Amino acid sequence: ETLRKQLIITAWERNRMRERITYGKRTSLPMTTQRKSLPVYKMRDQLLEAVRANQFLVIVGETGSGKTTQITQYLNEDGFGTRGIIGCTQPRRVAAVSVAKRVAEEFGCKVGEEVGYTIRFEDQTSKRTQIKYMTDGMLQRECLLDPIISKYSVIMLDEAHERTVATDILFALLKKAAIERPDLKVIVTSATLDSAKFSAYFNNCPVINIPGKTFPVEVLYSQSPQMDYIEAALDAVVQIHINEGAGDILVFLTGQEEIDSCCEILYERVKTLGDTIGELLILPVYSALPSEVQSKIFEPTPEGSRKVVFATNIAETSITIDGIYYVIDPGFAKINTYNPRAGMEQLVVTPISQAQANQRKGRAGRTGPGKCYRLYTESAFYNEMLQNSIPEIQRQNLSNTILMLKAMGINDLMNFDFMDPPPKNLMMHALEELFNLEALDNDGFLTKLGKRMSQFPMDPTLSRALISSVTNKCSDEIVTIISMLSVQNVFSRPKEKQQEADQRKARFHHPYGDHLTLLNVYTRWEQNRCSDDFCTQNFLHARHLKRAKDVKNQISMIFRQLGLPLTSCHGDPDLIRKTLVTGFFMNASKRDSQVGYKTILGGTVVGIHPSSSLYGKEYEYVIYHSLVLTSREYMSQVTSIEAKWLVELAPHFYKPTDSDSLSRKRVKITPLYNKFSKDQNSWRLSSIRQSRER
Ligand code: ADP
Ligand code: MG
Repeated sequence: ETLRKQLIITAWERNRMRERITYGKRTSLPMTTQRKSLPVYKMRDQLLEAVRANQFLVIVGETGSGKTTQITQYLNEDGFGTRGIIGCTQPRRVAAVSVAKRVAEEFGCKVGEEVGYTIRFEDQTSKRTQIKYMTDGMLQRECLLDPIISKYSVIMLDEAHERTVATDILFALLKKAAIERPDLKVIVTSATLDSAKFSAYFNNCPVINIPGKTFPVEVLYSQSPQMDYIEAALDAVVQIHINEGAGDILVFLTGQEEIDSCCEILYERVKTLGDTIGELLILPVYSALPSEVQSKIFEPTPEGSRKVVFATNIAETSITIDGIYYVIDPGFAKINTYNPRAGMEQLVVTPISQAQANQRKGRAGRTGPGKCYRLYTESAFYNEMLQNSIPEIQRQNLSNTILMLKAMGINDLMNFDFMDPPPKNLMMHALEELFNLEALDNDGFLTKLGKRMSQFPMDPTLSRALISSVTNKCSDEIVTIISMLSVQNVFSRPKEKQQEADQRKARFHHPYGDHLTLLNVYTRWEQNRCSDDFCTQNFLHARHLKRAKDVKNQISMIFRQLGLPLTSCHGDPDLIRKTLVTGFFMNASKRDSQVGYKTILGGTVVGIHPSSSLYGKEYEYVIYHSLVLTSREYMSQVTSIEAKWLVELAPHFYKPTDSDSLSRKRVKITPLYNKFSKDQNSWRLSSIRQSRER
């Protein structure tokens, strides 16, 4: 007991202390009682009636009312599970996994039996599976193989208000599938009240509202704009903890680093206050957190103490934490935006929309009357925030999506039934990228190569390199590298041991760069029988390496299914680098003695990221996996190449100039867009040229 008193538990601390910490006894209700207490339970019969009577249905309900965990079970109890699988899509991987686990528990089976989930590179389903949670991206992939998704009896497009690209595409694909399959049911659920738009899109289908059990939430605005929202948020937490009545606190922050550092600062601050205040449990929540740590947030707070949860916008709608009475909302979120001109994805901290702010506020009113502290002014809320967030499809790189649509035979993108069509420049850029990768021909139709590429669930640049690796006989190495690129950073760099960690990392460094370094790490890890000790000694995240291994197995399986050989070149660095160039030739930079590096395409000034094994080295030409914008624009995952490879391997894209350097060849793109420009005046070539030359 005294030990527990002294400890203010945080997940990051828990990692160090492992099992020594005991949590308060679980005081949750028995499962069936809990299920029956959810607002959706009262609507059970009405919902089932509506599903039977309609092909499309929109369901709106407060977060936490039981939509995701209950409706699938009701449908199963009603017999839909015997007619086909009941599928439920989630925009986030974490949500798909955690919800499946919860429902399996309620159902009384192991995950993967009657209740399962599928996320990219991980399939936890079996022949017995009747209720299947999956990411929206996975269902989109399934549509590619089977456009009428004949395995399914019902699809619930959950969290539709998030408007991810995949959900938006699924709207159209399922609407089409439903015409050929009168027995297929499509349910769209949303937490916010944009139901009219959804209903109108799905042929004016009925809308069912689940009346929430919500309490009023008092909103407190900041008197003046806050310079430092982190500081302001921490102040608010301490204020609430000292002055306000019982109830847990939820703070919305923008990302993992911010959350970890807030947990740490608050921990130190609370420690100095000592025994004068009650116990405060500090918990982080973000997607990258291991699920066993994440499940801690669902445990009831021990009596007499208070919990504060620092979360990304994952806690806005996809995860519900009970017992929250106070919400602190700094008004920001990190969103992924694609800048086609720079060819760059940017994670940018952006003001949230009014709809999001209200959603956040609502989290405080689930158990009793709550309070929401907005760390911005009332005028900012009304005058500076957008009413609704911009759908992803209008701000992300669409090359992957368009490749998929083309692979499904959907060529007429102009008349595709988008709920909100993407802006032309995004569409153009994606078509151009696919053309340059030779996935599309002059007329904009899928090539054989493009068809192959579409069979791999990854960016076209990666699948292109993967396919070249077959002819180049280095597929084993390229599959490893791609697997390592698709997991989170495997290098761990604990604050108190940074130097030691850096030294260890340097031992893996390959002189030619990061791709070969990643290959080194993986190979050495396998040679050491994938041991955890090896990881600890070398400051590597065992969890991420294991995931890379899973990813490698999954990609290898696709290779087998397609009858492609996995061949090793025994690490031949030139062959591997050349193969990478076939996918990444558009991501090339040339050294510039004045500014560091400039991208060949567009001439953007960029630097090598300090974490790269090429940092501080001076190669003339490099390729990079992606550009990231932090304090400046950095290339991440960088590998040195030879200039002549660009011309040799992408002759349709580069030509040598008089001097020894390379400049971009004027790509003949005219034929590619002819088809579209005939159909639609606004897709005129002139406007494409302009946007490319700006
Ligand atoms: P909705 O989809 O309407 O937001 P959910 O079906 O996700 O609601 O959740 C309903 C309730 O189930 C939540 O309020 C919460 O109490 C409980 N719940 C959901 N997931 C978990 C979990 N992993 N552990 C414990 N309780 C959970
Ligand atoms: Mg839900």
